[in-house]
Amino acid sequence: MKKSCAVIGSGIAGLAAAIRIASKGNAVDVYETNNYPGGKMKELNKEGFRFDMGPSIFMLPNLVDELFEICNKNPRDYFSYSSLEIPFKYFFEDGLVINAYSDVERYGREIESKTKDSKLAFDNYRKDIETKYKITNEVFIENSLHVATNFINRRTVNGLRNFHKIGAFKSMNDGNKSFFKDPHLVQLLNSYAAYIGSNPFVAPATLNVIQHLEINLGSYIPEKGIYSIVKALVKLAEDMGVKFYYNTTVEEIIITPQTGLKNKKVTGIKTNNSGVKNYDRVISNMDIYYTFKKLLPNEKQPERILNQPKSSSVISFFWGINKKFEDLAIHNMLFSADDEGEFKSIFEEKTVTDDPTIYISISSKHIKEDAPEGCENWFLFITVSNDQGQNWDELTKLARKNIISKINRILKTDIEKYIVFEDYMTPPMIEKNYSSPFGAVYGNSSNDKFASFFRHSNFSKKIKGLYFVGGSVHPGAGIPMCLNSAKIMEKVFS
Ligand SMILES: Cc1cc2nc3c(=O)[nH]c(=O)nc-3n(C[C@H](O)[C@H](O)[C@H](O)COP(=O)(O)OP(=O)(O)OC[C@H]3O[C@@H](n4cnc5c(N)ncnc54)[C@H](O)[C@@H]3O)c2cc1C
Repeated sequence: MKKSCAVIGSGIAGLAAAIRIASKGNAVDVYETNNYPGGKMKELNKEGFRFDMGPSIFMLPNLVDELFEICNKNPRDYFSYSSLEIPFKYFFEDGLVINAYSDVERYGREIESKTKDSKLAFDNYRKDIETKYKITNEVFIENSLHVATNFINRRTVNGLRNFHKIGAFKSMNDGNKSFFKDPHLVQLLNSYAAYIGSNPFVAPATLNVIQHLEINLGSYIPEKGIYSIVKALVKLAEDMGVKFYYNTTVEEIIITPQTGLKNKKVTGIKTNNSGVKNYDRVISNMDIYYTFKKLLPNEKQPERILNQPKSSSVISFFWGINKKFEDLAIHNMLFSADDEGEFKSIFEEKTVTDDPTIYISISSKHIKEDAPEGCENWFLFITVSNDQGQNWDELTKLARKNIISKINRILKTDIEKYIVFEDYMTPPMIEKNYSSPFGAVYGNSSNDKFASFFRHSNFSKKIKGLYFVGGSVHPGAGIPMCLNSAKIMEKVFS
């Protein structure tokens, strides 16, 4: 029977969930606090510059295409993307520059010519991360960890049998060091921990699967920027009959019966501007922490999950630059000379280091309309602690000063004189803009080896008709994982 369904939040996972459920003929309404869709996938248009303010690295585009395909639409009628020849350029303080070519043979030769490690070591590493991905994909990434029958199919049993190969009991850093001796390369590969807001000296080597997505499967750029994915998905959702309600905050998920332990089910939601509305099913794309604390305060709270340490955050800057930097690629990383010290400052001291690793994304190198003629749109950030009440005004000033001096040092420039537009974002702003607890960018941190088991399932075992998608629940954060959360949710939706 067709169901009426409310989706709370229009982040990438909320959009994917709405499309999947609508594609089955259900009636879907999406409620969004903000006046725009996309959540962290937000864009900024100012003074001739366009910036993607959240994700800039686009992997596994097939997961986006799939949403169009299940609706019998051609994804290319909605948006297009291409792969990058040099997705990343890595800069080190001692002057070394490594080009991460998408052609892995060429990348291997680059490593052999510029580091102490061989192409063969790189090839072996690539095979290892592919194996890790294949094992974890079956067990964790595309399936629910919370449905017992998932553990008795042949491929999952095979995955579990190979569990020892995923490196759950050593750190990402130790995993990387077991393949490479050159500290530059180890630091480069450790930096992928930042993609999930975690510390490579603690987080399990299993997470080196992220490198597989980028190095082996490739990095892509949507022709009109990351935000064009959001626009395309909203258009697809609307074509499938989904209705969007912006500037509308869901304040409560209504559960019946209100008391008693058995036979609980969702019956609707209450919003700030249209009161109670009845629905058969509710899918929350709000962070799981606030879903329970704010929308389900009277229900038993899954404290163990909610109290897990949260991931790191970022201080980001959006700079309109009136010069072209030919030495930079679309994605660039300027590494700290002391990576261990940097992670200590983020996760233990919870402050800003003097010598931060800086990520700089310049989409205008590919998308000419993103900056005026002769200019570039720099979106840059450093990883910082999530919000623990630090003085962010002071830390942002300090971060800006340290970032400028490092850019000047490495790129041999005087960057401040080229900044013609500037905006910024801090952890408290991330919390406010996207309802992300503590301004954490990626939900719970993945520093614990069992973190995967401490993410909430994509459905409620106690409340019938209640589902969860997004970066704070299984299987985790980042565009691909969020899309998978919606895919898993659809598998258990009934
Ligand atoms: C600076 C930065 C860089 C990143 N870089 C990358 C990258 O390069 N590649 C990558 O893959 N990922 C990246 N990420 C991570 C990625 O952006 C997120 O994992 C993903 O976008 C989260 O999507 P989500 O579906 O969980 O929803 P979110 O984006 O968290 O959105 C949730 C939405 O729900 C709405 N909402 C919340 N509560 C309510 C309520 N009660 N009522 C109505 N609406 C509500 C919010 O307003 C918001 O719009 C980055 C993130 C940031 C911030």
